[in-house]
Amino acid sequence: MSPLEALTREASLLGAGLNPSGAPLRAEEREVSRIMEICNACRYCEGFCAVFPAMTRRLEFYKADVHYLANLCHNCGACLHACQYAAPHEFDVNVPRAMAKVRLETYSDYAWPASLGALYKRNGLTLSLATAFGLALFLVLMLLKQGTLLHAPLAGNFYAVFPHNLMAAMFGFVFVFAIFALGIGLMKFWRAVSPGDLPPPAVAEATHDVLRLKYLDGGHGFGCNEEDDRFSLWRRRFHHFTFYGFMLCFASTSVATLYHYALKLQAPYALGSLPVLLGIVGGIGLLIGPAGLLWLNLHRHAAHGDAAQQPMDRGFIALLFLISATGLALMLWRDSGSMALLLAIHLGVVMALFLTLPYGKFAHGLYRCAALLKFAVEKRQPDRLRLGSE
Ligand code: SF4
Ligand code: SF4
Repeated sequence: MSPLEALTREASLLGAGLNPSGAPLRAEEREVSRIMEICNACRYCEGFCAVFPAMTRRLEFYKADVHYLANLCHNCGACLHACQYAAPHEFDVNVPRAMAKVRLETYSDYAWPASLGALYKRNGLTLSLATAFGLALFLVLMLLKQGTLLHAPLAGNFYAVFPHNLMAAMFGFVFVFAIFALGIGLMKFWRAVSPGDLPPPAVAEATHDVLRLKYLDGGHGFGCNEEDDRFSLWRRRFHHFTFYGFMLCFASTSVATLYHYALKLQAPYALGSLPVLLGIVGGIGLLIGPAGLLWLNLHRHAAHGDAAQQPMDRGFIALLFLISATGLALMLWRDSGSMALLLAIHLGVVMALFLTLPYGKFAHGLYRCAALLKFAVEKRQPDRLRLGSE
């Protein structure tokens, strides 16, 4: 095929709403493509976040570009409140909403196994069923083992009411499956949006941007827009509480596993021990962060994001809060006769999180990390269009 024929074919495919490869763009993807073409002509928001400099490297927006840009957007809302082409203007530009709709499509498209990608679309129901299943499973197992959920105090000895090996096998199996499923989905996404090398400086920059949640500062340091056009750093702060709280809880479990298998030290551990201290500090972070994020979510401007995804967002936040609240309650009352009941409830909600990790809001963090990595790689490559400010 001659270059002219190739261009003609590409133009006719694009005119029909298709990628050059012939893969159709969905309505949500076409909307991002349409908006990016308007933004590319306007450029008013160029300094806001990584989306706009990445946009300026393109003239057309194919499926992979749209998926990449959608996951690069942190839904801070700044470009909506700044936009002179937002509704009631006839262009009806709403970048955060269009990006949010495509993000959901990407989670579903790249999910593994593909048939379970549909769980993202009914995520409120998925989370509710997983939580009900997790709670019922552990309450029944505890009853089968103990015959009762209330007992004489056992000095915080969890393994007297639930065998350690059974607990480790159940959570180990589900966790390994979740990591495997997430890993395959992420690999499929990466291969779609970013073939090529990974220079170490790009990896370092992306890691720095992820750990600081750089783009939740709105690009100017004042933060996101929440219920109106005022800026606030609270979304970034509550994300940090949640992320680092989660990581400390994970560290607590990892250290406890090390104590158990490597040092042959069995739980319960003293209040001043490393696993307990990490668990308490992490648990408090994982209470404050989700509580704040839920409050912000309930008060967000109606035009931000995709209202259809609220059950997924709020359900995930509530699940994180419940995990922390039940974990801290278990710590506080581990010497009481309700330890078995509290342990069953805590294990049930943790199991619900593990079961839904690859098919829920948790995925957004991983896809955003991948998009930030691509951005850090791409900005080190020559800009063939030379239209942006970088
Ligand atoms: S969001 Fe609006 S103001 Fe910002 S670049 Fe796009 S069209 Fe321009
Ligand atoms: S909503 Fe925020 S993060 Fe998303 S494109 Fe607009 S300015 Fe960037």
